[in-house]
Amino acid sequence: MGQKIQILIIEDEQSIVNVLTSVLANHGYRAISCRTGKEGLMMAASYCPSVILLDLGLPDMDGNEVIRALREWSAIPVIVLSARTQERDKIDALDCGADDYITKPFSTGELLARIRTALRHISPARNTKSFTVGDLTIDFENHQVKVGERAVHLTQIEYKIVVLLAQNAGKVMTYDQLIKEIWGPYADNNNRILRVNMVNIRRKLEKNPAEPQYIFTESGVGYRMNDIG
Ligand code: CA
Repeated sequence: MGQKIQILIIEDEQSIVNVLTSVLANHGYRAISCRTGKEGLMMAASYCPSVILLDLGLPDMDGNEVIRALREWSAIPVIVLSARTQERDKIDALDCGADDYITKPFSTGELLARIRTALRHISPARNTKSFTVGDLTIDFENHQVKVGERAVHLTQIEYKIVVLLAQNAGKVMTYDQLIKEIWGPYADNNNRILRVNMVNIRRKLEKNPAEPQYIFTESGVGYRMNDIG
């Protein structure tokens, strides 16, 4: 039996810790946990877990402060567990360096899918020459995008958006992150131009742009490229 993947839970609500611990154990992971941000940072340093599940409302620090402190020295994927429904909190956490978020109450399936995505992003064996999900293929070397056998003609900006999302498939990218990557750090962070581009991208890629199967909208937060077909 190999080494189990270790997941650190930083959460002050014991009932949630219990549920998470048993779900993770049932799926072959090893869960370790603590209830404050300070302990969390210490455990992250001493155990080097593969993924951290982080509650935003901790007794001693704000979850976003934990992410900022962690990001000074570590790239361990962080999935935020948020009881808050406000979009602003999720966006702040992602902009601080969280990799993903999941809103309580969440389903076991959703949690496990997020963990698998986070783990995939740290595994080095990623194919960087192309990306495929369902019928969509992006050939990074030749700058070609295809849906099935059909070549898709994207503008430069549309192509950049699709590539960024594909390189982060499974993860949500905030409007702000996308805008900064594409238009630069001083770009006006007005989402309108991004939305206009997304309308055009979906018209070109999706069978039914109203029910996208490749690029999902995370309402009020950003976009996520499908990574499971
Ligand atoms: Ca809490």
